[in-house]
Amino acid sequence: DNAQPKKPSWIRVKAPGGKGYAETHKIMRENNLVTVCEEAGCPNVGECWSQGHATMMIMGEICTRGCTFCNIATGRPDTLDAFEPGRVAHAVQKLGLNHVVITSVDRDDLEDGGAEHFAQTIRAVRHRSPDTTIEILTPDFLKCAPEVLETVVEAKPDVFNHNLETVPGLYLEVRPGARYFHSLRLLQRVKELDPSIFTKSGIMVGLGEQAPQVKQVMDDMRAADVDFLTIGQYLQPTPKHHAVDRFVTPEEFKSYEKAAYGKGFLMVSATPLTRSSYHAGDDFAQLRAA
Ligand code: SF4
Ligand code: SF4
Repeated sequence: DNAQPKKPSWIRVKAPGGKGYAETHKIMRENNLVTVCEEAGCPNVGECWSQGHATMMIMGEICTRGCTFCNIATGRPDTLDAFEPGRVAHAVQKLGLNHVVITSVDRDDLEDGGAEHFAQTIRAVRHRSPDTTIEILTPDFLKCAPEVLETVVEAKPDVFNHNLETVPGLYLEVRPGARYFHSLRLLQRVKELDPSIFTKSGIMVGLGEQAPQVKQVMDDMRAADVDFLTIGQYLQPTPKHHAVDRFVTPEEFKSYEKAAYGKGFLMVSATPLTRSSYHAGDDFAQLRAA
C-alpha cells in the first residue's frame, strides 16, 4: 500500500539558500564532514544553516542498523578515522557555533559502540571552543558493556540526547534492532551518572501511533528524568521507507506541547517541522538565561 496522504499546507519546506548556507556547506566540505541536515534531507536546512547551526555526523555514513524511517545506508561501516574529532573541532570553531549537535550512525561492529570516539570529539570541541555548548545525539549502545556509557558521560556533554523515536508498540516495525526499555534506561543512567547533564529525547509522530501512547511515552521519559522533549512530524524520505500514516495537525502538536509541560519537561519543542536538533541552541540559551 503506497498511497500516501497529501502533504498539508503546514509542511512547507523552504529551499536552501543564503550566504550562511553556502559558507556552512563549504566548511563542512573542506573538513570532510557529513551533516545529518543533508543526509536526512531535513526540511529546516535553509533556516538552520543560515544561522550557522548544523548537526554533524561522526563515525561514517554507513549504519549497522536499518530503521525503516531513516535514509542512512545500512551495511558494513567505515573504519574509524582518528583525525575526525580534530576536524569536527576545527569546523565548529570556524563556524563560530554557539551550540553544536554531534551525532553518529549506530556502530554495533565496534566493541564500545564508538563511545571513546564520541568522548574524544567532545573533548576536542571543548578544547578549541570552550564557550560552545555541546549536545550529543547518541546511538543506544545496545550490544556494549554498560560501562561504555560512563566514557561518554565523563567527557561532559552539556546535553545528552537519545531518541526513543516512536511508541513501544511500533518498535518492531519502525526501529527493529532497538529495545524501547533499553533506550529509556540509557537516558536514566546518564542522569544518575551525572545529574548536571541535561537529558533529551524525542519521537516522530504520524507513524501510526495513538495520542494516549504518546502521553505514555512522555510519562516514561519523565520517570527516567528526561529534561527536554522533541516531537515532530515523520516525513517519508523515499517511497521505500515507512509510510506516513497521517499528518498530525498543528493543534494536536500544541496539545502535546501543553501536556508535556504539564508533566514537567523543562523544554519542549512539538511542531510539525520539529527535528531533534531544531533550534536546540536557542532552547539552551533560553534555559541558561532563565
Ligand atoms: Fe540540521 Fe537539525 Fe537544523 Fe535539520 S533541524 S537542518 S538536522 S540542525
Ligand atoms: Fe538511521 Fe540511526 Fe537507525 Fe542507523 S540507528 S538506521 S542512523 S536512525
